[in-house]
Amino acid sequence: MQNISWLAAPISDFTQQIKNGLLGHAYLVGVHKGYGGEELTLEIAKAALCQSPGELGACGFCKACQLLDGNTHPDLYRITADGNQIKVDQIRELCQKLTMTSQQGGRRVAVIYHSEQLNQASANALLKTLEEPGKDTLLLLQSDTPSRLMATIKSRCQQVHFEPPSMEEIKLWLSTESGSATDVTWCLPVMGGPLELALALESERYAQLLQFRKGWAQSLSSGHLCASLISVNEKQASDALKVLYLILRQKLIRQADLDALLRVKVTEFGMKVMDTYHKLSVMPNVNYLALFNGFILEYNKLTR
Ligand SMILES: [Zn+2]
Repeated sequence: MQNISWLAAPISDFTQQIKNGLLGHAYLVGVHKGYGGEELTLEIAKAALCQSPGELGACGFCKACQLLDGNTHPDLYRITADGNQIKVDQIRELCQKLTMTSQQGGRRVAVIYHSEQLNQASANALLKTLEEPGKDTLLLLQSDTPSRLMATIKSRCQQVHFEPPSMEEIKLWLSTESGSATDVTWCLPVMGGPLELALALESERYAQLLQFRKGWAQSLSSGHLCASLISVNEKQASDALKVLYLILRQKLIRQADLDALLRVKVTEFGMKVMDTYHKLSVMPNVNYLALFNGFILEYNKLTR
């Protein structure tokens, strides 16, 4: 695991529950993957399988830990979506496996990543196992958006307590990760979390976000679409829209003296931009040039 400082506390809390014999049988880890939700879930799964967990989670040395490190522990089951859904067959197979005895003589642990992707049928198939999981069985449900989980699923899980990191902690972590002293957190609100931002910094993506920021600022003030926004692919277009939304948001925050009516109009315009972003993946054959030009025109009408 990368050293994600804000995960130490929940891993330690969970390990303490194991050591005190207070472990429940089903937990919801409602932590976005951008904040390390997947890493956290795996670490607590490891702590539950480790033969002698320490204060900070799995020991890293016992036989179970060695199997876990080699990705070959037979009593750890990991489920990820097949396409954009977790399908009923995946859950049926998992529940079937969980009825068998553990191979290493300890717990059996099932991790379901992005459990908001359970569909109606697969969620229903999981309910019985969530209610009566059998002896020494632990189910861990990670979710980016726990609010989208079915209430019947949520009510059968205990919550893993998680305190999100402060902005200061995020800045410190990012500067250590990227080795850069520049504050890059301006785009954090649209990046899903610090881990995704760290990945963007490693790739071309962050540089492009900066270009989009410059491009939109110039385009909005000149009324003409800038070169950097003229030819974008689908992935870039969704980033460009998120950056446009951020610029509008920052305008509202920074310009406290903005006319009340204009504030409302800019807010509505920002919502329209985000609405378009959400619909982008289901819109066929989008002409981004026309779409972006339309936004520039609309913004100019608002502010004229
Ligand atoms: Zn161990």
